[in-house]
Amino acid sequence: MYKIEDIKGVMLGHAVADALGVPVEFCDRELLKRKPVKDMMGFGTHKVPKGTWSDDTSMSLAALDSLSSGRINYEEIMRNLVNWYMRGDYTADGEVFDVGRTCGAAIENFMSGLYNKATDCGLSDVGSNGNGSLMRIHPFVLMAYFKNLQLSEWEALIENGSSLTHAHERSKLGCKIYALMLLYLLKDKKGKSSVRKALDDVAIFYGDNAELRHYGRLSEKGFSELSEDKISSGGYIADTLEAAVWCLFTTSDYKECVLKAVNLGKDTDTVAAVAGGLAGAMYGYEAIPAKWLNVLIKKDYIEKMCEKAFAEWTK
Ligand SMILES: [Mg+2]
Repeated sequence: MYKIEDIKGVMLGHAVADALGVPVEFCDRELLKRKPVKDMMGFGTHKVPKGTWSDDTSMSLAALDSLSSGRINYEEIMRNLVNWYMRGDYTADGEVFDVGRTCGAAIENFMSGLYNKATDCGLSDVGSNGNGSLMRIHPFVLMAYFKNLQLSEWEALIENGSSLTHAHERSKLGCKIYALMLLYLLKDKKGKSSVRKALDDVAIFYGDNAELRHYGRLSEKGFSELSEDKISSGGYIADTLEAAVWCLFTTSDYKECVLKAVNLGKDTDTVAAVAGGLAGAMYGYEAIPAKWLNVLIKKDYIEKMCEKAFAEWTK
């Protein structure tokens, strides 16, 4: 029942979408309406070659590299993040060209040696609720799925995973909502019905969480019918999560979903990556266009890491 394709679908679904968004990061929607992204491109905003993925994927690989040992070691994940930040480990081409403010500050907190635990290093003020933990939380969810962790166990894993950089309750809750959607997609394999069930259960599980109101629209009946102008695609975690789910609900395959996410503009790589993780889980690894996978830089390296995790988690 556990398949390597489930890891690859989510990891590569996320990474490919990240790479699609990189060349147009920060572009506004109006510009992308006139000149929409339709295929993998190079250069643009960050002047990097076609198939280059960004911090979203690098930070995810830093976590997967540690979690793929089968152990949960937050200090080791943080050391991996330091090695990404300081020397370009886990990057497409050795260069770190995009670091979020909160992620950078948390990694520097860890490097300062002033914090007792890695999970204490994340920023916990209300202004630190960007999408920087949401965009790298899926390896933790994959481990929870493959190790069949119970609710309280996976919740702790997701909360701690977020807290490495983003420790505010809103960020932790956003990651848990994303995790529930991914877990239901992987377990039940019922596509959009699995996502709807997850969003219904969010209201049950987290109904008493004061932060849930920031994600209220996701569970509303008419959410998927909202017009595009009601969907924001900036770097705020609630906006990113809404945009990703809206793209998933309003499209019918992987390709259409991630292109729609990219073409919303602004935080294109992250909105697409977050949507791409969900779409990869929903439609499967085989739904990711081969021509995109084939130009993804270091695809084999990412796939090897997926294979290592699969072998370890299914022992
Ligand atoms: Mg990025």
